Amino acid sequence: MIGAGMVGVCAASWLQRDGHSVFLVEAAEPGRGASFGNAGCFNGSSVTPVAMPGVIRNVPRWLLDPLGPLSLRWTYLPAIAPWLLRFIRAGAPEKVRAQARALRPLVGPTLETLKPLVSTAGAGDLVHRLGHLYVYRSAESLERDRLAWDLRRENGVEIDEFDADELRQLEPALSRDYMRGVLVRENGHTSNPLALVERLLEHFLRSGGELVRAGRKASGSKAAASPRLQPIPASSRRMPQLSAPALSPSRSPLRSVTRCRSRPSGATI
Ligand SMILES: Cc1cc2nc3c(=O)[nH]c(=O)nc-3n(C[C@H](O)[C@H](O)[C@H](O)COP(=O)(O)OP(=O)(O)OC[C@H]3O[C@@H](n4cnc5c(N)ncnc54)[C@H](O)[C@@H]3O)c2cc1C
Repeated sequence: MIGAGMVGVCAASWLQRDGHSVFLVEAAEPGRGASFGNAGCFNGSSVTPVAMPGVIRNVPRWLLDPLGPLSLRWTYLPAIAPWLLRFIRAGAPEKVRAQARALRPLVGPTLETLKPLVSTAGAGDLVHRLGHLYVYRSAESLERDRLAWDLRRENGVEIDEFDADELRQLEPALSRDYMRGVLVRENGHTSNPLALVERLLEHFLRSGGELVRAGRKASGSKAAASPRLQPIPASSRRMPQLSAPALSPSRSPLRSVTRCRSRPSGATI
């Protein structure tokens, strides 16, 4: 498994639970990529795609805002224009409904799927299911998000809406600027995304998994030295023909890398 972030560590752990002998290859520090600096939310309700109807109307405001979610190098515009057109077309209402239906079975069971890994790794103190409260400064701004909330409801997400008074009772510390609230009870969060990856990794290592520290990024040329690892050029669409479903560390071709059988350096578990 290449990459010891949240995805790599979870996938490696599931393979290991399935009886495979697994090693993780990491070029930098485990858990210090995207899995380090995220919001830590487990959003099973997150069925709305980024390309929603009308999203294009927000683009000028986003581009002018230095803290906005979009920035664009203008010289790159011709290259990215075909993708942008596809992005806008993907936001048609019927496409968005189909995408939401497809996303729900994928993201809905997030917490349930994580639970067995978290409990065997003794990381229950890092994962909480308290729901997510979304707050709005006006009834109008909530209405602008109505399609997204409808899509979540249509796909089985239970949602409670609150007016200003109810919101105050629910969350007394909240600023009085907020007039509407929507609570999604099924969602959860981790109080420390890095610690969660590290705790899962530690359990993976204790259970016989290995962390292979590659001095530099694992590449096809190194993998090519092994009869069991087949490099796939990114340009080819060929699927690999592996001789075994999982990769055995004892036959690793990565001779120039260090093997860590114990806790990785820098871990703060
Ligand atoms: C600001 C922000 C907020 C976010 N908030 C949320 C959130 O609230 N909820 C949520 O679910 N998601 C959130 N995300 C997304 C989430 O962080 C990522 O989807 C997730 O962390 C990806 O995990 P990963 O293991 O795939 O990647 P990473 O954590 O980046 O791990 C990849 C690892 O692979 C290693 N690597 C890469 N290439 C190689 C190679 N060739 N050889 C060896 N090692 C290699 C890297 O060094 C790295 O350690 C957020 C993302 C950002 C940026």
